[in-house]
Amino acid sequence: MNHSIPHLSAHPLAPSALAAAEILYTDLDGTLLGLGGSLLVDADTQPSLTTAAAIVDVNRAGLTVVVCSGRNRIQIAEIARLCGWRGFIAELGCVVVPDRGDDPIFRTGVWGADALRAGETPFQAIERAGALDALRQAFPGKIENHAPYHLNREATHVLRGSLDVVAGQAVLDELDLAICLVDNGIIHPLSTTLTDVSEVHAYHLMPAGVSKAGALAEDLARRGLARANVLSIGDSASDVKMAEETALCVVVGQATEDARVCEAAAAYDNVAATTGRRGDGWAEFAAAWIAARQG
Ligand SMILES: [Mg+2]
Repeated sequence: MNHSIPHLSAHPLAPSALAAAEILYTDLDGTLLGLGGSLLVDADTQPSLTTAAAIVDVNRAGLTVVVCSGRNRIQIAEIARLCGWRGFIAELGCVVVPDRGDDPIFRTGVWGADALRAGETPFQAIERAGALDALRQAFPGKIENHAPYHLNREATHVLRGSLDVVAGQAVLDELDLAICLVDNGIIHPLSTTLTDVSEVHAYHLMPAGVSKAGALAEDLARRGLARANVLSIGDSASDVKMAEETALCVVVGQATEDARVCEAAAAYDNVAATTGRRGDGWAEFAAAWIAARQG
């Protein structure tokens, strides 16, 4: 256990941040959802209503939750509906749906106006630029599509495997399109075709200059909310960057054992951790938020 991230109950900024927050941006996998993507399990994958009950409590308190995940628009739209939530941010900040039923907004970062051909999605442009082929050739057996989650995507590619992110980024930097390689944390796929890989990570290929934090900032501006009224929660190093745009960023328990998360968190003074892992951590956070609002 790494103790470099203060616990939520001991963080000096937490009482005021929790009390002032009207809205939460939440990651899904590893944060709200347990292993296997289920809401109805505890952190050890045993059947549990703890996280679902916490969602009900948050909704009953009239608090707003916005999903902010690497998953695609179709997936998040259904999960958000199931939870009783409305707007969301998909594909790591590249696809924003401000409210239920709205057309998606595609965010392409540093790409110029001519980066996309007529009718082309950012997802298709990344493939056309040769990004996937280049990575497969540079890291044979170490990277593959994160099936089946690579389907139905509009802006980013999701891969899995194990590679040196700096070396992978150098491969992408040779291409004509500015594409960023993002490590989205440790995953536990049921099966892979990878060779000699012990720790499997999910990776995204995305337009350079796009982030969850940037999408979050734009979404806040649309809603007319200030940073002081916003919280975020996640479990990966890229989630920790949401601290830039929120009063407090919370990471769930197992993330404190991830060296990348601890390294990212060291750059901010407004990152706190729960003891509970995965959905249990989300519920622990939710109880603290509701208590602070009612205090
Ligand atoms: Mg996650």
